[in-house]
Amino acid sequence: MQTNPLRNILDHGWWSLLLKNGAKSISKMSWLKIITLFLVTLALIFALEHPAPALEVQFTPTNPHLGDTIDLRVNSPSQPTVSFDGQVYPAFSRGTGLWQVLLPTTPLDAPGTKNLVINDSGTEKRMAVRLGNRDFDTQRISLPGGDESPVDEYEFDRVDEFKTLATPERHWQGSLLRPTSGDVTSVYGVRRYYNGVFAEDYYHRGVDYGAGTGTPVIAPAAGRISLVGRENQRFNIHGNTVGIDHGQGLLSIMIHLSRIDVKEGDFVQAGQVIGAVGATGAVTGPHLHWGLFVHGKAIDPVPWRERGFN
Ligand SMILES: [Zn+2]
Repeated sequence: MQTNPLRNILDHGWWSLLLKNGAKSISKMSWLKIITLFLVTLALIFALEHPAPALEVQFTPTNPHLGDTIDLRVNSPSQPTVSFDGQVYPAFSRGTGLWQVLLPTTPLDAPGTKNLVINDSGTEKRMAVRLGNRDFDTQRISLPGGDESPVDEYEFDRVDEFKTLATPERHWQGSLLRPTSGDVTSVYGVRRYYNGVFAEDYYHRGVDYGAGTGTPVIAPAAGRISLVGRENQRFNIHGNTVGIDHGQGLLSIMIHLSRIDVKEGDFVQAGQVIGAVGATGAVTGPHLHWGLFVHGKAIDPVPWRERGFN
């Protein structure tokens, strides 16, 4: 008997050819196809819901001025490297794929366009941030000649060391508390003329509160006491001093205190009394000077008090 292949197909259908290779291999092939299709579909759904990571960047305030802290948010799969006006600042995680970078500005910055460069594993984004000018109050100070006492570098070295802190845990959230009662007697950023000469490097690096000696001073936010200096231990200019590390580069310094209630290493809660207003150090009368630093630069505390940062 002779078998015509075409006849065979016509009689038994196209599957008769495949049957030769066995039913097992057919089902194997089909399963492979089904699984592949399933995986491709899953990948497509995932891709639609998770678009290719691009560096998305936002900052607040959108129109910053001298003294403002710029709150930069970066959407990035891994920790980005951020440089602003030529200086690198650390990024801290704010949840999966979201990073926060605090950028300090001061009255000493030149207003105008600043370069912002964000890098994440090969992806680079460049932006121009317009830093607006701002008018600061000025003071004219007359200094009698010839009585300049030698400055003891010790206290400034201690304060400079404190200002380098940028510890990873964040202890601040929302608005900071007013550190003491009493009127504001000198605002942030005041510039000075000494004997008629503009002091290029001077600006008032904090806020002064004119409260009486003994008025409690509280921590504006939680943090670690990372600096305690005393007038009788060579803090002749700052007087009795407490530095609080609020974490992630935010620091408070309280100077001219009459009393210190904490020691280095203590952890304080927002609102906890850390000492009292005084007139220690180089002052003309009792007041609290509160300096607020972001990555070592004294920024305007007002936005931190009024709007707050998260
Ligand atoms: Zn002051």
